Amino acid sequence: MKNIVLFGPPGAGKGTQAEKLIAKYGLDHVSTGDVIRAEIKSGSELGKLVKSYTDKGELVPDQVVIDIIADYVLKHKTGNGNIFDGFPRTTFQAEEFDKILAANGLKVDVMLSLTVPDEELVKRLLLRGKDSGRADDSNEDVIKNRISVYKAQTAVVADYYAAQNKYAEINGVGGIDEIFGRLCEVIDTL
Ligand code: AMP
Repeated sequence: MKNIVLFGPPGAGKGTQAEKLIAKYGLDHVSTGDVIRAEIKSGSELGKLVKSYTDKGELVPDQVVIDIIADYVLKHKTGNGNIFDGFPRTTFQAEEFDKILAANGLKVDVMLSLTVPDEELVKRLLLRGKDSGRADDSNEDVIKNRISVYKAQTAVVADYYAAQNKYAEINGVGGIDEIFGRLCEVIDTL
């Protein structure tokens, strides 16, 4: 079983590449962003709370996503493996994630980090906003804040995995298949 953290700023292509990795390796997948959007859509109290963060491009409180992941891991302890997309996004989340996995006899195998220049990210997200209807993709100020939040709070999570020799940086610029090939090269060494 391979447990892969797919990492990178908003617009780096995590969702697109996750779909291709799931198909090729028969992996299961969780995107905390997707779970959060579903919660908002449901109109629950939790949905209302998290919307106040996502609307501004801020991270939701750590415990909300830690609970989502703890629940997911409990249900996905067996199989070919899992892709964690958009999680962990703070060092605290990474530490708690290790504890959750260890309690279930599991571990992270690798963090695959897609790197893309800022100007390209803004361009991609505005384009995605036209089709996806995602509120946080349609406003340039919110997009820029998400990229700032990534740099200030999330980028440091790479160091956490680098310290464990589990970090692989992947050039996220190029054709979808080209980038996919770069990811597969690393996964095939696991
Ligand atoms: P994403 O689809 O991954 O870009 O996530 C959309 C939004 O959901 C983010 O801007 C955050 O507000 C929230 N979110 C998703 N994952 C996390 C996480 N691991 N920690 C905190 N907030 C998150």
